[in-house]
Amino acid sequence: MAEKAYRYRIYPNKKQQELIQKTFGCTRFVYNYYLNKRKEKYENDKITFSYNMCSKDLTKLKQKLKWLREVDSVGLQTSIKDLDLAYQKFFKEHTGYPKFKSKKNKYKSYKTKNTNSSINFKNKHIKLPKLGSVKIIDKQIPQGRILNATISQEPNGHYYCSLCCTDVEFEQLPKTNKNVGIDLGICDFAILSNGNKIENPQFYEQSEKKLLKLQRELSRKTIGSNRWNKARIKVANLQKHISNQRKDFLQKLSTTIINNYDVICIEDLDVKSMKETDSTVRNKRVGDVSWSEFRRMLTYKCEWYGKTLSVIDRYYPSSQICHCCGNIDGKKSEDIRFWICPECHSELDRDINAAINILNEGLRILNV
Ligand SMILES: [Zn+2]
Repeated sequence: MAEKAYRYRIYPNKKQQELIQKTFGCTRFVYNYYLNKRKEKYENDKITFSYNMCSKDLTKLKQKLKWLREVDSVGLQTSIKDLDLAYQKFFKEHTGYPKFKSKKNKYKSYKTKNTNSSINFKNKHIKLPKLGSVKIIDKQIPQGRILNATISQEPNGHYYCSLCCTDVEFEQLPKTNKNVGIDLGICDFAILSNGNKIENPQFYEQSEKKLLKLQRELSRKTIGSNRWNKARIKVANLQKHISNQRKDFLQKLSTTIINNYDVICIEDLDVKSMKETDSTVRNKRVGDVSWSEFRRMLTYKCEWYGKTLSVIDRYYPSSQICHCCGNIDGKKSEDIRFWICPECHSELDRDINAAINILNEGLRILNV
């Protein structure tokens, strides 16, 4: 039993679109209003204005500001819950202080919970609080019990609804009695311990020229004009297309790996720290290859289908150990593709050797 999210493109009618836009506005307003209130209460009276206090206050606020009553009340409630989570994260993980939500953010969304079947799925429609039945085209039927729904709008204007479901049953995949180590690379996207190299598809590079051309055209238009808006949508659509290609590639690859192996060993790569330390060319590549997204997919697919993911320490020197004799030989930079072990004289492909080491280490830590 596990959780799964189902994402649908939705086709709200005019009236529903208006209400969705209003809800985006109201949930943002409530979030910012209580962020401001919590700040003030703390600065002036040293009081933590808690979630429960916000929640009670919201009831009063809705009496004063009647327009807040026109939208999904659970959506507003979720907004102050999100604010509270942002505070908790700030206190616990010392991440940044919660920020005000800007009207200019290109991705708009709000979240609502399923209470007494307020959200349900029927005949190519999703029923949502206040909005009623919203049309979809997708044929996929959500499994399990719907927990919540996130309604969003992308920069190209399309609307989506993501249903988060729990108690979803997955058929366990048959055991293959094969295990794999994966080294994530720059030139190749991934290198498997069996010697297979999976090329980095470079979707961004394929569309780069076209994207730059569209962006140039956009920059020549008067902001806010009809032509500007058309050009803006063209840019957003192409960006969406690149991101879809990338996601599709990662989905297919992770599924193939899950189908073929029982234990999957990977390195705990800190993509963020790599982005900060290296050149711009590498930045673009790291962004393009989306390792963290790939790892996220492997994680949930392992959980769904009864496979094991073994994540080894990021400081494990996978590329410096000779997998034949265990000899450790200095730092190997990204440019060295092949090396000969000074101990046992094995000829080693840098990445395949690393993938084999990742496999061995990944299996070792499972048995500790
Ligand atoms: Zn050796």
